Amino acid sequence: MKRTALLTVITWLVIMLTMANFSAPDYAGSLPFQASLGIHNPNSVAWGFPGEKTGSVQLRLDQGDSQIRESVSRSVLADVQKYSLPVLEHNAGQVPVQTTQLIAFNTDKGYLRSIRQIFPKNEITNASGQTAGFTLASEVFLPMYEYQNQAYLVNTLTHELTHVVLNQQHIGAVLPTWMNEGFAWYDGMTAERMVSAADAAQLENLLQDGINRAVQTGELLPLTASESDILRVNHIYNVEFEDYLAVKHLIDRYGLAKFRAFLNASPQGVAQSFYRQYHMPLSQYQTQFFQHMMDKAH
Ligand SMILES: [Zn+2]
Repeated sequence: MKRTALLTVITWLVIMLTMANFSAPDYAGSLPFQASLGIHNPNSVAWGFPGEKTGSVQLRLDQGDSQIRESVSRSVLADVQKYSLPVLEHNAGQVPVQTTQLIAFNTDKGYLRSIRQIFPKNEITNASGQTAGFTLASEVFLPMYEYQNQAYLVNTLTHELTHVVLNQQHIGAVLPTWMNEGFAWYDGMTAERMVSAADAAQLENLLQDGINRAVQTGELLPLTASESDILRVNHIYNVEFEDYLAVKHLIDRYGLAKFRAFLNASPQGVAQSFYRQYHMPLSQYQTQFFQHMMDKAH
């Protein structure tokens, strides 16, 4: 690149940064919108999507315990803009429509304190031990100290924002757990792959090993397993990864459009919506998938 061209680019970048305006790079060249970012104060950020289809996304980043550095808060929100929202738009056909609050924690002490306030006593170990973040309605709790790299952070952000979208569609609580978690994983992994295909593949291989082990020892649970069964096998394999495989199988086999149509009609009834799209009862798919996992291992 010529020196003058480089200088022009640098000047342009400086102007863009000064004005706190970012434009989102295209995701697979197929995104309908550009995003702009306005920072009102370091912890309160609003995103506007001028595209007719998406309207605007209101996102706030707040501190959970101690002060979040402005550079951190900028980069988290830039990741949401660059990866999470495009993936949600593409996979779910939806982005959050109501104000969404991200609450960032710098210490496990602060994070655990808020978990203790939210979850009943007997669920504390479960909730804090297994989550790299969690979502209540439109509030996302993020233990920032957990994320060793950007790929992991982007996976979590996208995962939790999927829960937000499903909650705002009023189906988070009515979908079977495996679908809710499986789809959050599906989006999270899609986003992680955009940051680092190698990291995503490594994670998938590791978790697949656990699944294979569980199949061999007869410990793989059906998708409808109870919470207590899940806690029992949790050290053998990651049950949410099985949920992810079940959603991925459904989407790979029948397409994303059908899955989106199923989600869209789910507020009027999950079972009916599933039947309308897939021409089989939900229970049949659950049984078929479990059988498919068992057969694949042999
Ligand atoms: Zn989840």
